[in-house]
Amino acid sequence: MVVDCLDNWPAREVLNRLAVKHRKPLVHAGVARWYGQATTVIPGRTACLACIYPKGMRSETPIPVIGPTPGVLGAVEAAEAIRVLIGEEPGLAGKLLIMDLSAGAFEVVKVRRRPDCPVCGGLGFGE
Ligand SMILES: [Zn+2]
Repeated sequence: MVVDCLDNWPAREVLNRLAVKHRKPLVHAGVARWYGQATTVIPGRTACLACIYPKGMRSETPIPVIGPTPGVLGAVEAAEAIRVLIGEEPGLAGKLLIMDLSAGAFEVVKVRRRPDCPVCGGLGFGE
């Protein structure tokens, strides 16, 4: 299993490719300011990061962050990692949590694999 705690998108793309290639679950979270998102990638079964963000994301340097933002999403990642480790379905497998702490808003949306995904499209579907 891989837990993504990176601070830039290019490194995250490399991590996504390696996790999919080696079929390791990838617990992802990213933050900026009051905002963040999280998902868990199960290679060959759920959307990978390239499926969700086919054009990647812009990385700021340095990334401005309000302290509670990574605190909340770090706890979410820990819960997802524990679910993977105990062999239970992670709550965010195939889903994306989008968080805006400035509005106290949390939304979970379903995300789907893209057949044309350059990272995981070759794994086939239904595996
Ligand atoms: Zn993909």
